[in-house]
Amino acid sequence: QQRDPQQPEFLQAVQEVTASLWPFLERHPEYAREGLLERLVEPERVLQFRVSWVDDHGQVRVNRAWRVQHSSAIGPFKGGMRFHPSVNLSILKFLAFEQTFKNALTTLPMGGGKGGSDFDPKGRSDGEVMRFCQALMLELYRHLGPDTDVPAGDIGVGAREVGYMAGMMKKLSNQAGCVFTGKGLAYGGSLMRPEATGYGTVYFVEQMLHHARRETQGARVLVSGSGNVAQYAALKALELGGRVLTLSDSGGTLYAKDGFDEDALAEVATLKNERRGRLAELGDDRRFEYLPGRRPWHVPAEIALPCATQNELDEDDARTLVDNGVVCVAEGANMPSTLEAVDVFQHAHVLYAPGKASNAGGVATSGLEMSQNALRLSWHHAEVDERLHAIMKDIHGHCVRHGKRTDGSVNYVDGANIAGFVKVADAMLAQGVY
Ligand code: NDP
Repeated sequence: QQRDPQQPEFLQAVQEVTASLWPFLERHPEYAREGLLERLVEPERVLQFRVSWVDDHGQVRVNRAWRVQHSSAIGPFKGGMRFHPSVNLSILKFLAFEQTFKNALTTLPMGGGKGGSDFDPKGRSDGEVMRFCQALMLELYRHLGPDTDVPAGDIGVGAREVGYMAGMMKKLSNQAGCVFTGKGLAYGGSLMRPEATGYGTVYFVEQMLHHARRETQGARVLVSGSGNVAQYAALKALELGGRVLTLSDSGGTLYAKDGFDEDALAEVATLKNERRGRLAELGDDRRFEYLPGRRPWHVPAEIALPCATQNELDEDDARTLVDNGVVCVAEGANMPSTLEAVDVFQHAHVLYAPGKASNAGGVATSGLEMSQNALRLSWHHAEVDERLHAIMKDIHGHCVRHGKRTDGSVNYVDGANIAGFVKVADAMLAQGVY
């Protein structure tokens, strides 16, 4: 806290993890040595750099960009790039810290990192986005490599941006190795990568409900966000018999009282992915009601999947969800629930999964993309989906092993934090202090 007083998101993430770890360290003093925790809360390397580019009117623009290389204890740094005006060092440090534990949970050999810029792609032409991505890579390329640091997408960075960055990386390095994941299928991308985070979140929900002997069929589901994670979480929830009542964006919530069907979800995907429009453009018609400035959490439902951004679900929202009978909350986004909201869920014995467990399917499939690239092979859709399913099941198993309460229920926060920590800590202890 004294070192980083201006980094509230980072401190929030550290606080959540250390709250789980203290009791564990008391029981396992072998992990309370060699400055493990002190080393783990300090990124191995933080890069900050200027990105200058020229907009469509010939005007020079300057943005700030970062790459936080948090931990390489178990493999190359790995984590997405985020383009959003709110991006700052605190947010990227929290994301890189979380990513380290999440990647460890996948059981694949990936360290943790995150990066991004305060560049806002909204309203920018394709040409401007391309020039920005290329300008960013002019600096970032020297810090990346298939065995060094392998970024991917995140908020504001989808297939288009990854394509521009991966292309520039290849040009500058004269190497075609796997330096980005989330690539297009035409140049080394993996089938199922776009779907993986959203699908994986719903696979995790299935595991939680199954373990607690509860049903998914017919459950009402609230999804926030309408980007990559939200779209596929909604689609899989629908496929498994859930009734998806909401999607949202930074302008408000789109409420479908009879639920979104596949056509309605496809319409949202076209609006968001191709036209880069606002949900407000779809409401109100006979299927939807648009609620400007509202988040979805006041709508009664059994399952809530926050899939937009950090701290989008606060204590009051959590109380409303609990009062309305929510059974399961699984995070598709990173740290969407505030610490106070998480407390409310835990006290009410809601099945609550933190993002580092429930949204790990995306990076796991990125790990599978790295494997396919190294093998110079492309696996079929069903093969990747099967592996994703198996990984989500394993992550659930790790959470149960490390998070089981005396009454047989599972504290998924403790389970995920301890399981991720043990893997990274074992690797750090084996490699000595440096
Ligand atoms: P996208 O950019 O595709 O979508 C983000 C969505 O969240 C959009 O609907 C956006 O609304 C909304 N949103 C963004 N910022 C805010 C805000 N400040 N307030 C309200 N709504 C907001 O990103 P992704 O779907 O890829 O990522 C969503 C979350 O999932 C993030 O937390 C990300 O870190 C996490 N995640 C993503 C993974 C992936 O594979 N993509 C993997 C693991 C986690 P609008 O359209 O108005 O901007």
